[in-house]
Amino acid sequence: MASVARFMRTIRVSEFGKSDVLKLLTDAPVPSPGEKQVLIRVHACGINPVDTYIRAGAYARKPSLPYTPGSDVSGVVEEVGQNVTAFKKGDRVFTTSTITGGYAEYTVASEETVYQLPKQLSFKQGAAISVPYFTAFRALFQKAHGKAGEVVLIHGASGGVGIAACQIARAYGFKVFGTAGSPEGLNLVLQNGAHQAFNHREKDYIEKIQEAAGAEGVNVILEMLSNVNLSNDLKLLSYGGRVVIVGCRGSIEINPRDTMAKESSIIGVSLFSSTKDEWKEAAAALYGGMESGWLKPLIGPEYPLEKAPQAHEDIIQTSGATGKMIFVL
Ligand code: NAP
Repeated sequence: MASVARFMRTIRVSEFGKSDVLKLLTDAPVPSPGEKQVLIRVHACGINPVDTYIRAGAYARKPSLPYTPGSDVSGVVEEVGQNVTAFKKGDRVFTTSTITGGYAEYTVASEETVYQLPKQLSFKQGAAISVPYFTAFRALFQKAHGKAGEVVLIHGASGGVGIAACQIARAYGFKVFGTAGSPEGLNLVLQNGAHQAFNHREKDYIEKIQEAAGAEGVNVILEMLSNVNLSNDLKLLSYGGRVVIVGCRGSIEINPRDTMAKESSIIGVSLFSSTKDEWKEAAAALYGGMESGWLKPLIGPEYPLEKAPQAHEDIIQTSGATGKMIFVL
């Protein structure tokens, strides 16, 4: 009667370190869901930069070892715990978190972090929703308090969070500027909602953004690489402008004076600090986007599970992003 395989393929990390600590197991036991949990047959799983920081042991939130990385899966419900009412076997779903890890053929997630995957979206797209879209929504609305009609610069718009931010900002009536580091990335940024795209590898691109924004400047900047760009961002902002620190991989010198005359703000964002109500608010807004069709995750490089070490190298080292990196199982 049991339809679930007893063993599965999964990635297991037994010590923090370089990408080669991501080991493929082929005979891990399939986990069982608790009372308010759901067992999902994983079809795809998002690969996020944060997975690499956690694996390296360099992140504030450290899982106990051994563990399986991955929070953003999509797939089909295989089994539900006895107190789960919102899901049943066979439902297409995606998650914003998992309990047993998403880099695996099966994962268990708490029912409150599982969402129905609308039929318009493929499993691959389902694996590209959680961290990218919830972060972009949080940065733009819950942190920057952005408003329709404002100019938003998505500084690093060609990756997972950036493409999500372009689609959200365009749908909500912002004037959208995005940057990318390759011709292909620039095209994708334009196709996904940006009114104008700029190449952050060109020497004079900041002047070009300044010119496009005009005398008023940019109201909101969603910054993916603050350690490189924060000083320039402060110069691009309008009066009352806000720069939201989404990504940062080191330190940078800024002149705090650059915030004074324009009374501008530098705001940090951490998706995992969202309250339950904030998750709910973001989910409702993003669901609207899935149903009405503007939320369309763009899939970039795809990897099989056994290439996990390569995927972790690529997401940090490779330039020229073209959307969301995922595992396909
Ligand atoms: P990703 O898919 O790897 O994309 C990285 C982006 O950064 C690409 O668009 C890339 O453009 C761009 N980039 C490269 N050099 C740049 C430069 N000099 N200036 C501006 N952008 C540049 O990563 P992601 O998933 O979108 O995440 C982006 C960052 O946000 C990561 O650092 C991640 O850790 C962080 N993040 C933070 C939170 C949070 O809660 N704070 C949540 C999610 C993600 P090209 O490749 O085209 O050059």
